Amino acid sequence: MQTQSSPRKRLLISILLIAGLIAMLKLTYWYHLEQGFSRALPLANRQLEEVINFIDGALIRYESIPHVLSTNPLLAKALKLSNDSNEIKHINRYFEEIQHVTEASDIYLLNQSGDAVAASNWQKPYSFIGQNYAFRPYYTEAMAGRLGSYYAVGTSSDTRGFYFSYPIQEKGEVLGVIVVKVDIADIEEQLTGLAKSGQYELAISGDDQVIFVASMDSWRLKSLVPLDENSRQAIYQSRRYANRIITALTVKPPYSPFEHSVTAPIYQIPTDDGKAQYIDSRSEMTKAGWNVHVMTPVKPLYSALPPLLMLSACLYLLAALGLLFSLERRKNMQRMQLAQQLLEHRVQERTQELQDANDKLQETQDELVQAAKLTVIGSLSASINHEINQPLAALRSYAQNTQILLSRNMQDKAQENLTTIISLADRLADIVSQFKSFTRKNKGQDKLTDIRATVEDALTIVTPEIEKQHVELQIQIPDTPLRFFGDKVRLQQVLVNLISNAITAMQQSVERRLNITISAGDQLCIEIRDSGPGVNESQMEKIFEPYFTTSQRQGLGLGLSISRRIVESMNGSITVANAASGGAEFKILLPLCPAEEHA
Ligand code: ADP
Repeated sequence: MQTQSSPRKRLLISILLIAGLIAMLKLTYWYHLEQGFSRALPLANRQLEEVINFIDGALIRYESIPHVLSTNPLLAKALKLSNDSNEIKHINRYFEEIQHVTEASDIYLLNQSGDAVAASNWQKPYSFIGQNYAFRPYYTEAMAGRLGSYYAVGTSSDTRGFYFSYPIQEKGEVLGVIVVKVDIADIEEQLTGLAKSGQYELAISGDDQVIFVASMDSWRLKSLVPLDENSRQAIYQSRRYANRIITALTVKPPYSPFEHSVTAPIYQIPTDDGKAQYIDSRSEMTKAGWNVHVMTPVKPLYSALPPLLMLSACLYLLAALGLLFSLERRKNMQRMQLAQQLLEHRVQERTQELQDANDKLQETQDELVQAAKLTVIGSLSASINHEINQPLAALRSYAQNTQILLSRNMQDKAQENLTTIISLADRLADIVSQFKSFTRKNKGQDKLTDIRATVEDALTIVTPEIEKQHVELQIQIPDTPLRFFGDKVRLQQVLVNLISNAITAMQQSVERRLNITISAGDQLCIEIRDSGPGVNESQMEKIFEPYFTTSQRQGLGLGLSISRRIVESMNGSITVANAASGGAEFKILLPLCPAEEHA
């Protein structure tokens, strides 16, 4: 099931990742352009304002010059005496001087028919003198008694200019018109500098949508809108652009002169070296009849896009991978937790099984200990039998004797006998209780025990056999208590076993001597030495292995192995060596406990 769903899941994750990436890229793209545009518009508006102020400032200097000049009566005089060459020369010079001072392009005087009678450029090849300008609106305006203003390409000079005109009146009659022409090329050059430093392009168009001033050479005197034959003819006939046939720029989407939206439109316009997209921020200069366009190039906005898209894609992938990684990690942790729980459960099960097995083993070991105990008791049974039978027989004879004494009315003697009988019965009870406690099946009760009492109890069990086998017993036991921590009966079993083995080993020996020495150094030491043949050197370690026996009779071969286990369970050790005088010497070492410990 899992193997089937995995590739599907992976495919789904991949699709989601890719969809997320596309969404992220689109968002970045949109956000960047949105931000770019929203930053560009206020800037463009500021630049527009700057340009308009500049143009206003540049033109306003000249606006009042015709009016001022018109107040000079010499001009009216010259108009009246236009055939007087001296008079005209005089005015020409005057105009020339004024032109120098004001830095105007040309200053000239038109008569009522629109013919230039005097001009500052009277000595230039393109001198206006003799030319007729009655077709110019600035002439018509001034002849109507008003200040005229107009922009056009000069028909004589072929340069672009802005014209200011004023009527020359005498007694309410308009005698002629004084005109001041301002060179637009100079203003344009300064405006181009402004545009370049502001990283935008500038275009100034009139109502006919023909660009009159431009920072881009190829835009100059080109129409922003396509021109049909009629409009082209109309423009041509106005002679605003001298004899030029105006052509249109290919603007995409088509330029809309009447659209005034909050967000400036974007146009693709041919440039000096190809084409480019611009945000067109536009403002009108009503007085001059101009539309000023600040064209902000879109390219820088787009050129910042690739690294930005790359960055956002990287960030997105990084975040997505981080997310996937943390999800996978969480899943892994859950899996690990599950595995750990499973493992813990298994360990618990195994521990329980081991515990059960251990309990069983313990039980079996207890059984074995018991079996070994009974075996040793079995080997001693004959002497024990004798030990019990002896007081029993004595009891019987004392009882018979007492009967006789009572029949002879010898009360005192009978009383003595009865006391002996009681002490014999007590002794019997003692012996039986020792055997009973020794053979009782017990699980072992560890407590602080005096070794001397344990040795004495063990001897009670083996004494009958010692006596029966005529073994000479030599014991060295200290007067003060020496304590070990462990089960008294278990250690008693070890001692009985070792003594019983020693007696068995000495059965063929002429000299039968058993030495038991209890001493204490760092540890409690119990030494049991016999005068038997000793242990075969090759069997020194083997004798502690289970079921190793050389005994022909009841021996199970378990006694020493169980003894070692008992001693080791009390943190002690048991070793064997052959004594220099012959015979085996078993040494038990046990931790010595001070009296107060474990109390
Ligand atoms: P079992 O007494 O049933 O043989 P044990 O484990 O008590 O089992 O003893 C194993 C063997 O160790 C004995 O059969 C005997 O060969 C050897 N052994 C034990 N004690 C002595 C001893 N004091 N002297 C010589 N050999 C001994």
